[in-house]
Amino acid sequence: MDRRKFLASLSVGSLGLAGLPNAWAEDSITPVLFPVPANTGITGNVVVVGGGMSGAAVAKYLRLWGGTGVAVTLVEASPAYTSNIMSNTVLTGQRTLASLNYTYDTLVSHYGVRRVNAKVSGINGAAKSVTLEGGGTIGYDRLVLAPGLDFDLMPGMSSLAEYETLVPHAWKAGPQTQLLRNQLLAMPAGQNVVLTIPKAPYRCPPGPYERVCVIADWLKRNKAGSRIIVLDANADIIVEKENFSHAFTALYAGVVDYRPGCSVTHVDSANRVVTYDQSINGVPVASHAQLQAAVLNPIPPQRAPQLLKHAGLLSVDPSKPFAPVNVLSYQSTVDPLIHVIGDASLTTQPKAGHIGNQQGKTCADAIVRLLSGRPLNTQVVTNSACYTPITATTATWLSALYQYVPGTGSAPGTMVILPQHNNGKPIAASSATSDNYQDMQRWFTTLMGETFS
Ligand SMILES: Cc1cc2nc3c(=O)[nH]c(=O)nc-3n(C[C@H](O)[C@H](O)[C@H](O)COP(=O)(O)OP(=O)(O)OC[C@H]3O[C@@H](n4cnc5c(N)ncnc54)[C@H](O)[C@@H]3O)c2cc1C
Repeated sequence: MDRRKFLASLSVGSLGLAGLPNAWAEDSITPVLFPVPANTGITGNVVVVGGGMSGAAVAKYLRLWGGTGVAVTLVEASPAYTSNIMSNTVLTGQRTLASLNYTYDTLVSHYGVRRVNAKVSGINGAAKSVTLEGGGTIGYDRLVLAPGLDFDLMPGMSSLAEYETLVPHAWKAGPQTQLLRNQLLAMPAGQNVVLTIPKAPYRCPPGPYERVCVIADWLKRNKAGSRIIVLDANADIIVEKENFSHAFTALYAGVVDYRPGCSVTHVDSANRVVTYDQSINGVPVASHAQLQAAVLNPIPPQRAPQLLKHAGLLSVDPSKPFAPVNVLSYQSTVDPLIHVIGDASLTTQPKAGHIGNQQGKTCADAIVRLLSGRPLNTQVVTNSACYTPITATTATWLSALYQYVPGTGSAPGTMVILPQHNNGKPIAASSATSDNYQDMQRWFTTLMGETFS
């Protein structure tokens, strides 16, 4: 895809909202701050819970497309957002955590979003209000839930605190990312890192394989004789198979030891010992095998936060612990006044920040239409991109375009990859290059700027 068009497609083109202002200039990565329209005739009171990739986007575009009559309150637990995207490069010292911080200043000062720095502890759908952890409630006409994910305990673990102090998953950027970096720095050369990957769906499909590559690259240069052993619960590499297989078997031969079909049965956090079974094509090849790690990085299974479970918004299928939605509006299938976007929602699109941004815009457009009594747009298209550093100077990428397809019979409509887009499959870079690495920096700056300013 042409790079300029691709970066520009982050703005409004994908939603068919031609004519409405967008906040991004096609030929530049400098944000253009369009004013919030004063009088669209549309009024409403929308509360957004969570100011990450999807929540910040929906808050911004509700104001930009709804105008000053649409009051938007963003309730976010943290004072600022730390991006998960690019956080693997904090592990190798190429970036600092501070360089991944984004404030809500522009959303408040320019777009007029009301910000509440608090954690939401409950949802009362009947009363149309949310409860704050420190006390107090906030009422809404429409509620948007964008709280990201919760992480399960690995078998054998007794407390989430073990991730904070002993075996960081670092699958939400923050102190655990720094802890994992410190552990890598402190490990003796010649000893091993063990990384475990949960069964899909999980946040950022290429992310674990990306982490394996950047850690392997760093080990090669900094810890002679060390290896990274990967226990993947999936039967095979789930995305960009050619690129990652090549990296694991050629570029990092002798450094990466990739083991598919592994189910972790026990994690001893204090001693960093992991026990697992492995089977390939249904044939058991290892039972109660144990690995001693110098650094243990278990990426846990993931689910929508408890907040949504308690509100009864999750799928009844326990293998899909996320919130089913109408993908034209992101309205919950349980309560049409509640919208769920980002990683917490259950759709056919990947759990990714780029898609979260697109879902935020789709949802903002839908709410503006619903508040003004107009029909939903049925021509929704979203796009997704994940750039993946393979070494400290080269990267690959994966991209897909999704379009709404109406359901048949009782089956709901869904988002599918456009058949004309690579036969309905995501497109991947043909190899890791330094040009891709430059594009990755530009894509990241564009995506984050577009979401938070
Ligand atoms: C290592 C790594 C690399 C990645 N790389 C990419 C990539 O290259 N491309 C890509 O597209 N995606 C990537 N991702 C995935 C991406 O980061 C997530 O999919 C994305 O952040 C999800 O957006 P979200 O809005 O659903 O949740 P988040 O961005 O996690 O935001 C959720 C927000 O809600 C807040 N919150 C939660 N609960 C409450 C509550 N009860 N009350 C108030 N606030 C609350 C949290 O504090 C947080 O700020 C990567 C992820 C990881 C871990």
